[in-house]
Amino acid sequence: MKNIILFGPPGSGKGTQAELLMSELKLNHISTGDVFRNNIKNSTNLGKLAAKYMDSGQLVPDEVTIDLLSSELEKFPQSKGFIFDGFPRTIDQAHAFDALFKKKDLSLDMVLSLEVSEDELVARLLKRGISSGRKDDQNKDVILNRIQVYNQQTSILKSYYLEKLNNSFFSIDGERDVSLIFNDINSIVSNY
Ligand code: AMP
Repeated sequence: MKNIILFGPPGSGKGTQAELLMSELKLNHISTGDVFRNNIKNSTNLGKLAAKYMDSGQLVPDEVTIDLLSSELEKFPQSKGFIFDGFPRTIDQAHAFDALFKKKDLSLDMVLSLEVSEDELVARLLKRGISSGRKDDQNKDVILNRIQVYNQQTSILKSYYLEKLNNSFFSIDGERDVSLIFNDINSIVSNY
């Protein structure tokens, strides 16, 4: 079983790399952002609640997100492992994740952290907004807010996992071609 966190700011390419890795390793990909968006599409109560936060670039409250992650894990009891994309995003989420893994007797194998400069993130997200139809990618203020939220609440998890996992935390230059980044990720994961 392999459990991997793909970490990085919005627009760093987590979703793209997670999809590539998922087909290579046959793991399950859990993107909390995708689950929230599906709920919005289906007009569920969770979707209505999440949209209030997502539209302005804020994080959905921890209790809601942690419950969602926990029920996503339950959906794949036979899984060979998971790629977590967009979770955890706060220190409380990371602690809840640790507790959940302990309860389920699972272990986190590695954290892959994609590093991309802020200017590049903004440019990528604005470009994605044109094609994806994602509301939160179409407004520069919302994009800047998401990056600020990342800097204030999420980036701290790098030192958390660096300390926790020591030599299983990998920083990857995410400002290159998708295929070059994936080559790096693939060689890290296959040499693990
Ligand atoms: P993403 O698709 O990962 O960029 O997430 C889009 C939006 O979903 C974020 O800006 C948040 O509003 C919400 N979201 C996704 N994952 C989380 C999380 N782990 N904690 C709180 N909010 C989240």
